[in-house]
Amino acid sequence: MIMANSGDWGYYWAVFKQAAPLGFSFSFILGAVLGSFANVVIWRLPRGESLLKPGSRCPHCGKPIPLWRNVPILSFYFLKGRAACCGYAIALRYPLIELLCGLIFATLYLNIGWTPDFPFLGAWMILLVILGLIDLDHYRLPNPLVILGVFLSVLWMILAPPHTWMQAGLGFALGLFLAVVMMLAGKIAAGRWSGFGDFKLTLVLGFTFGPGQFLILFLSATIAAMLYGLYRRKKTSEKRIPMGPFFALGAWVTIWVGQALMDWYLGMFNLFW
Ligand SMILES: [Zn+2]
Repeated sequence: MIMANSGDWGYYWAVFKQAAPLGFSFSFILGAVLGSFANVVIWRLPRGESLLKPGSRCPHCGKPIPLWRNVPILSFYFLKGRAACCGYAIALRYPLIELLCGLIFATLYLNIGWTPDFPFLGAWMILLVILGLIDLDHYRLPNPLVILGVFLSVLWMILAPPHTWMQAGLGFALGLFLAVVMMLAGKIAAGRWSGFGDFKLTLVLGFTFGPGQFLILFLSATIAAMLYGLYRRKKTSEKRIPMGPFFALGAWVTIWVGQALMDWYLGMFNLFW
């Protein structure tokens, strides 16, 4: 079928348009399922528990949760937010994270489709959601997850390079520079060194996104973090700001408007030179 029409772009476009609602829904479901696993990782990894064994258990009474009661988002809805075993109220956060991951995948599909970048960027976004929430809960970014990110990005560079090794290197160097600036700024502004986890993640993100996109990621993350810090200053004396969630937000902003911003910025140069 496809062979007979090879080279006919109109045909591919028609197929794509037809498949779009399907791709969107499938991406959403895939994201929500991964979000369900993300919840497990967010809870267990910082506590040093195994991620695979035991299977899903009720956080209250410890009874195993059968697979059919463990459907992302839907189970929470049909069980009215209570565990089927003991009626324990399940935090709204769990289905919200599943929903978030579903939406991330569905909108990623709308943005880039099932291109070779999709699995890598999707995995990175889930990883950033996990890192962001662990940082929010525990003020740390566990090493194994950052190292997983390194593996993911190197694999991406080998299998479907999003940019050249030169750009990856430049991004890494920019990450190093900004990580040092961020640590110094934290020391000067808040009187304490920011976490070393932030430092490492900044380098890895620089490598992953390349200098241009990474700059947008870093700026949107730090601006959002500063606004959050100002807002929170009135409510609590806690000075630490977990950067993880803001890096996740920054990555998401970059995926959506990064290219447009870079084109606009380079266009400005064309105007003046
Ligand atoms: Zn229970």
